[in-house]
Amino acid sequence: MALWQHYHRPATVEEALSLLAGYEGQARVVAGGTDLLLEMQQGHKPPVEALVDVTAIAELNGIGLVEGRVEVGAAVPHSEIVRSPVILQQATCLVESCGVIGGPQVRNVATLGGNVAHALPAADGTTALVALEAEAEVASPAGRSWWPVLSLFQGVGRSAVDQSRELITRFRFAPAYPGTATAFKRIMRPQGVALPILACAVWLAVEAAGPDSNPRQVKIVEARICLGPVRPAPCRAGQAEAALRGRPLAEALDDCVGAAQAEFSPRTSKHRATAGYRREMIAVLLRRALPLAAQRAVMGEAVPEGVGLG
Ligand SMILES: Cc1cc2nc3c(=O)[nH]c(=O)nc-3n(C[C@H](O)[C@H](O)[C@H](O)COP(=O)(O)OP(=O)(O)OC[C@H]3O[C@@H](n4cnc5c(N)ncnc54)[C@H](O)[C@@H]3O)c2cc1C
Repeated sequence: MALWQHYHRPATVEEALSLLAGYEGQARVVAGGTDLLLEMQQGHKPPVEALVDVTAIAELNGIGLVEGRVEVGAAVPHSEIVRSPVILQQATCLVESCGVIGGPQVRNVATLGGNVAHALPAADGTTALVALEAEAEVASPAGRSWWPVLSLFQGVGRSAVDQSRELITRFRFAPAYPGTATAFKRIMRPQGVALPILACAVWLAVEAAGPDSNPRQVKIVEARICLGPVRPAPCRAGQAEAALRGRPLAEALDDCVGAAQAEFSPRTSKHRATAGYRREMIAVLLRRALPLAAQRAVMGEAVPEGVGLG
C-alpha cells in the first residue's frame, strides 16, 4: 500500500494551510522527511492521503536578525545553520548541536522545524533551542502566534502542533550580548543509533569581565541549562541553574553537578545506555559545557573550543 496518495509543494504558508485544511486531517506536513518517512515505512505512523512539503516556502527558509532577535526558518536544514555567520556569532550552541546531527546527507535535508515537531527529548537542535529560551511561531487556520519552544512538547513524540492542520514557520531568540555565551556537548554511540546518549546545552551571562579575566572566577549572573533526554519532554535543569547564580564557576560547579544529578533520573535505554551511565554523563557534560560557555562569555560567543585556555 502506498504511504501517501498526493504530494504537494506549496510556495506560501497560506497555500500550505489551505491544502492541509482541504484534506481534513488526512494530510501531514513533511520537511526533510528523515524522521517522518522512516516512521511511515516502519509502520509507526499511518499512511496519509497527502504529504504537504514545506521546504519550498521562502519565509520558512531564512536566517537573520529581525527586530532585535535572531530568526531561523523552520525549514532551514541543519547544514545551513552550521554555515550561517549570524548563528555562529549569536548562538554557538545551535551550530554545535545541528553540526552533529546524523551525517552530511541527513544534515543537508533535515530541518530544525522537523527536529522540534518530532517532539523527542533527545533531539539535539531542540536541546540548544531550549537553552536559548527560543520561541516558535505556529501558523494555523486561526492565525499565527508565538509559543515558547518548551510549551510545544507534550511527551515522547507528542507535539502540541497538530501536524495535519498547523505548521511551525520560524524560531526566534535573543541575540548574544557582551558577557553572554553558549555551548553544546553530547555523548553519542559511535554507530547505529540516531539520537544521543545524553546531550547538554548551556547559556551563561557573566558579570562584566575583560578578555584576560579567568573564566572560572567570573561571577555567573544567570544560567540556563537543558539536558536531554532526562524526562519524556525536553526540560530546563532549574536546580542546577540556581546553584550557579551569583557565584563563580570554580566555586559552584560541583554544586551544580550535584543538583542536576539529584534533579533527574534518566532512564535505561536498551539501544543507548543504562540509567547509571547516563547519570554519570550528566556530570561529564556539565563539566565540559559550562567551562566552555564561561570562556566564551569572557572572550566572545564565537570563540572556538580550546582558544585562550593556555
Ligand atoms: C541517520 C539519521 C541520523 C539522525 N541523527 C540525529 C541526531 O544525531 N540528532 C538528532 O536530533 N536527530 C537525528 N536524526 C533525526 C532527524 O534527522 C532530525 O530530527 C531532523 O531534524 C528532522 O527533520 P526533518 O525535516 O527531516 O523532519 P521530517 O521527518 O520531515 O518531519 C518530522 C516531524 O515533524 C513534522 N514537521 C516537519 N516540519 C514541520 C513544520 N515546519 N511544522 C510542523 N510540523 C513539521 C512532520 O509532520 C513530522 O511529524 C537522525 C535521523 C536519521 C535518519
